[in-house]
Amino acid sequence: MARNPVTWLGSPTFPKAARVALNDTQLRQNLRKATGTIRGRRAAAVAEMDDWEQLRVAGEQVKDDVLARLDTLLVQLEESVTARGGTVHWARDAEEANRIVLDLCRAENATEVVKVKSMATAEIGLNEALEAGGVHAVETDLAELIVQLGDDRPSHILVPAIHRNRAEIREIFQRRMGVEVSDEPADLAEAARTYLREKFLTTKVAISGANFAVADSGSIVVLESEGNGRMCLTLPDTLITVMGIEKLVPTWQDLEVFLQLLPRSSTAERMNPYTSVWTGVTPGDGPQRFHLVLIDNGRTATLQDSVGRQALRCIRCSACLNVCPVYERTGGQSYGSVYPGPIGAILTPQLVGDMHDPQAASLPFASSLCGACFEVCPVRIDIPSVLTHLRAEVVEAKGRTAESVAMAAAAWVFGSASRYEKAQKAGALARFLARDGRITSLPWPGSKWTSSRDVPAPPAQSFRAWWKENRCQK
Ligand code: SF4
Repeated sequence: MARNPVTWLGSPTFPKAARVALNDTQLRQNLRKATGTIRGRRAAAVAEMDDWEQLRVAGEQVKDDVLARLDTLLVQLEESVTARGGTVHWARDAEEANRIVLDLCRAENATEVVKVKSMATAEIGLNEALEAGGVHAVETDLAELIVQLGDDRPSHILVPAIHRNRAEIREIFQRRMGVEVSDEPADLAEAARTYLREKFLTTKVAISGANFAVADSGSIVVLESEGNGRMCLTLPDTLITVMGIEKLVPTWQDLEVFLQLLPRSSTAERMNPYTSVWTGVTPGDGPQRFHLVLIDNGRTATLQDSVGRQALRCIRCSACLNVCPVYERTGGQSYGSVYPGPIGAILTPQLVGDMHDPQAASLPFASSLCGACFEVCPVRIDIPSVLTHLRAEVVEAKGRTAESVAMAAAAWVFGSASRYEKAQKAGALARFLARDGRITSLPWPGSKWTSSRDVPAPPAQSFRAWWKENRCQK
């Protein structure tokens, strides 16, 4: 089986990558500032809505309905798109999707294409596949362009260059665009605009992702803030949209719920600045050829897991990243995947579909299980429950290890009150190893714990013993 590019080739496991990131003070400073600001703004935007909780429940229900009827809704979408002059392509995996898109570009003799920011194309490694086939993809979203010009990797769903500050962006622009520019946001935006304008006007093929696809009308919807996406969606002759099969909503009316949930959750805006909708092709107006590539890439396998499938409800708002204490300290690149943060910790291992893959299997442990991600998720994905469910799968896949033997021993001890009491008494002896109330070094296997943390000295008397002595009736 070909490797699923949803994880980056050669990425270390999360704990190793996180250790490196934690030593990068500039990165932590950039992230603390950015996530702190967006957290506050999102909370204020959500607090304005009296019916926010009802909206969340509605979002959850629509998405669950879509997942339950995915087979029929997808066929309906294909019929609607085809009836309006579009062409639908089905791709089982990344390799197939990339081949379809490359063939479509070649059919148009395109050597350069413009792109709207798209997680799906990042997930399948489309840019790299196109480059290998002689087609250069130009990212038009500002943050995505910064990542591309910096030969970097994205670290956030919404703001892929969140780990970069203004001075770093200025350096990248000067080096790659050959222009003198200050680090003022307006100047940086102007430099990007000038660079991209020529691309928009000369490129014949555009590639986009999709936030939503409406099954009954065949309409595709993209939400964005800068307007660059709209240029891609209207100027070129050919538009190729690459979309995960779960991005459906059944009807136009269902869209209403998500057009309220998504902007407030992602950019803390009441409505997003640009909502572009297109349905097939219209003679003489906009792209004259429209192709929709529907990718599975691990999604139907994820659908089979009754607990894990809720990850497919995700509308990629990034709210869970911005509240996650682990993400804030390690940054997105430590997750080694296009999907970072809490959603990445549950979606990536499921799309990879192999709990023996050390990198993917390390992700369900990249969480403190504090639950903040569930509280902000606009479609109520219970991320902590999925994390613990996937942790169990990882442990099972590992088979018998020192850890599982230790856990089995612990379960045996906790299974009987008398065994537990004896173990407590034996454990209390460890206080003789304590200095100033803390134990800093234990013999193996306790040394695995004390190599990175201290242990408080056990009390001379356990609570159970104290209770027996003071509260039990003699
Ligand atoms: S899991 Fe929820 S909060 Fe996180 S990106 Fe997806 S929809 Fe947003």
